[in-house]
Amino acid sequence: VGGDLGLKSLLNLSDSYKEPIHHFEDKYRKKLHHWEKLRSRRYLLAKQAIAWDYHNKVLAPRQLDDFKNYQKARVMVAKYRQKIANQRLDQLQKFTTKLVKQYDIIVLEKLNIKGMLKNHKLARAITNASWSKLVSILQYKCDWYGKKLIQVNPAYTSQICINCGKNNHRLGLDKSEWLDVREWDCPNCGTRLDRDINAAQVILKKGLATQ
Ligand SMILES: [Zn+2]
Repeated sequence: VGGDLGLKSLLNLSDSYKEPIHHFEDKYRKKLHHWEKLRSRRYLLAKQAIAWDYHNKVLAPRQLDDFKNYQKARVMVAKYRQKIANQRLDQLQKFTTKLVKQYDIIVLEKLNIKGMLKNHKLARAITNASWSKLVSILQYKCDWYGKKLIQVNPAYTSQICINCGKNNHRLGLDKSEWLDVREWDCPNCGTRLDRDINAAQVILKKGLATQ
């Protein structure tokens, strides 16, 4: 199977399945924000109180550990962050297990994640999608199950038509306009293409050609 690492979906497969991106953090955003605000306010108050203890030369100045309401906020922030991380990891574990059980050869694009993180508009979506984690989990599961993970150069994979093989060079659009195109018609052969599924199919073809 070929997989196109997406922004709208976590992974688009060449057999047309799209693994969704779940925004687990949305579920906890309000609570997390609430406790983060409390944590920083309570931290400042505790620091002030400690400073006064030192100023007044009290015998046993209080420490941060003594401020139970600050500690409670700190624990709550950690708890909600952990919940989000756990749910995200759980999705990756289930999805990668499904992939290695279902397919013998999995072809993905080789990503330059560091380079992509410099692009701030994409950074959030990319980190949310946990691409690098997906690839590393998939790699060790492929090793466990004796399956093959191939990574190919992603150049032009979304612009080449799977039907006729022509590189359509973003249909003459600039980069950001092209990113918004979800479906397109190949000017060469007229085939209607789903951007992500076409890319996954081109990735699969590229990967199999290396074998
Ligand atoms: Zn074509």
